[in-house]
Amino acid sequence: MKNLKKLWAIFGLVLVVGLLAFLVLNREKFEQKKYSVVSTSFPGYDFARAVTKNTNISTKMLVKPGAETHTYEPTPQDIIDIKNADMFVYVGGDSDDWVKKVLKDVDTKKTHVVKLVDLVSTVEEEIVEGMEDEDEHDHNHDHDHESHAHKHEHDEEEEGPEIDEHVWTSPKKAMEIVKKIAEVASEIDADEKTKINDNAEKYVAEIAQVDKDLHQAIDGKISEIVVADRFPFRYFADEFGLKYAAAFSGCSEQTEASAKTISFLINKVKQEKIKKIYKIELSNGKIAETVSKDTGAEVLELHSAHNVTADDFSKGVTYVDLMKRNLLALSK
Ligand SMILES: [Zn+2]
Repeated sequence: MKNLKKLWAIFGLVLVVGLLAFLVLNREKFEQKKYSVVSTSFPGYDFARAVTKNTNISTKMLVKPGAETHTYEPTPQDIIDIKNADMFVYVGGDSDDWVKKVLKDVDTKKTHVVKLVDLVSTVEEEIVEGMEDEDEHDHNHDHDHESHAHKHEHDEEEEGPEIDEHVWTSPKKAMEIVKKIAEVASEIDADEKTKINDNAEKYVAEIAQVDKDLHQAIDGKISEIVVADRFPFRYFADEFGLKYAAAFSGCSEQTEASAKTISFLINKVKQEKIKKIYKIELSNGKIAETVSKDTGAEVLELHSAHNVTADDFSKGVTYVDLMKRNLLALSK
């Protein structure tokens, strides 16, 4: 009997200690912060997280770590979170087209809405030689023309190319975006303005450093990259003066390339004796694998920071960390 009591006491103690440890370790998650920033995808989340560090502002990413951002649909809870947020960050392109509808019910007096493609200068999506035109297959942007049930392909061409939404892949643009997000955060939590500015300055300096390192690795050494995958790196390529060949444009939902596309990439790699080709993060890497098998080129990953894996997310991997990985891949 006595032993049993002791056992219960020990069991209780272990439970209490365990619970306390859990709460301490997960403090961030349970702490109710005064303000919140909600972002649809990783770049906005990462930049907001950096500038609001140690402030009264919490940050949340809607797309699940490891998930495909382009096919993401918000849950009812996500929509509530957006409405309750003090800042809502979204990309403003093909991938979060659903936002337009949700925004109709958002009180913009309470929620500061930040659209990434509006913060910096943009270019239109480009289809380079050998790349499959997603508009030939992807009829997702037809919302405005739903009455035209049988839309012909040439109608879409008349719509013209869309804005390339992957602005954050240029570190220089990322720095501009961080500064603007910090400005909005300072408006929300004016008491912490100094801290937010400090955080922003530090993060911009980190990005500037990796930008400099990337320039050192690329300038005069690499003039062209072959990405046997989707190509969300237009702004990255532009910043570093890189020519490129790829299978699909940035937000294409395709994963299977046509024989024509594959043979174009294979010929290019063979003719130009290219030793490294790239696939993007969270990709099945099939196209790169096929090209590699036929050419012997090594497959490396280039990270476009659309999203990170669950593992990277729990480790707190940042945009700067991802760019450092790119630096490593490109330096090889
Ligand atoms: Zn994309």
